[in-house]
Amino acid sequence: MQKGEELYRGKAKTVFFTDDPNLLILEFRNDTSAFDGEKIEQLERKGEVNNKFNHFIMQQLESAGVKTQVENLVSDTESLVKKLKMIPVECVVRNYAAGSLCRRLGVEEGKILNPPTFEFFLKNDALHDPMVNESHIVGFEWATQAQIDEMKTLSFKVNEVLSPLFAKGGMLLVDFKLEFGTDSQGNIVLGDEFTPDGCRLWDSETKKKLDKDRFRQGLGSVVESYIEVASRIGLDL
Ligand code: ADP
Ligand code: UDP
Repeated sequence: MQKGEELYRGKAKTVFFTDDPNLLILEFRNDTSAFDGEKIEQLERKGEVNNKFNHFIMQQLESAGVKTQVENLVSDTESLVKKLKMIPVECVVRNYAAGSLCRRLGVEEGKILNPPTFEFFLKNDALHDPMVNESHIVGFEWATQAQIDEMKTLSFKVNEVLSPLFAKGGMLLVDFKLEFGTDSQGNIVLGDEFTPDGCRLWDSETKKKLDKDRFRQGLGSVVESYIEVASRIGLDL
């Protein structure tokens, strides 16, 4: 596989063309950002840890019947993935209240949400990723109603697969964000990443935060915690 020109440089990953028009290389960098890019730091080994973590999780999801971008790892920090036409919304599932939900609704952090909640946010840093509803998504033609329904169904399926996986490792999957796209045949496929950068994970007993909130809140040991999460689900990094 020949790595080609850079297609896009995001806040944490760089996307490259390959000699296959249906495949891209995602490079996971050490850059870590929060608050829509206002806080940015380089964290040693984070690119490698997130690349391998993401590959492991996408493989688990693929085995459970969720169509994902996964192809294979190409280096410590790079993965070969299916090229998708990304749908510009973020899908957020929550099992416990945290983050923006607490700020927006004034609810207590840690409240159990049963059944889990689902939210859409528009991917737009300049507008601070505003929450949008299904009629906005259809009305502005970001996705069709059928695609919306499928993204929701798949997001809950991901929750059903991953919550028990993290529970076995003594962790609560508090919430997570997914991005979907369409492949060359128009199928909805899970893209982007699933790493501790885009989810919340707490130790089940102590409620210690093991995810990117350690970076957002300046708690330290960010990458060390990601490595601990990986090891608890059977991935030694
Ligand atoms: P951001 O754009 O939020 O700064 P990243 O630094 O993670 O995010 O950049 C990765 C970019 O690549 C994102 O815009 C994401 O939507 C896009 N992307 C992720 N997976 C794929 C894929 N399989 N095909 C095409 N684009 C993808
Ligand atoms: N999230 C993300 N990217 C975003 C916004 C949110 O990965 O641009 C993740 C975040 O890490 C958390 C979940 O989505 O696991 C819900 O985030 P929330 O809405 O609480 O926003 P936050 O205050 O964390 O930005």
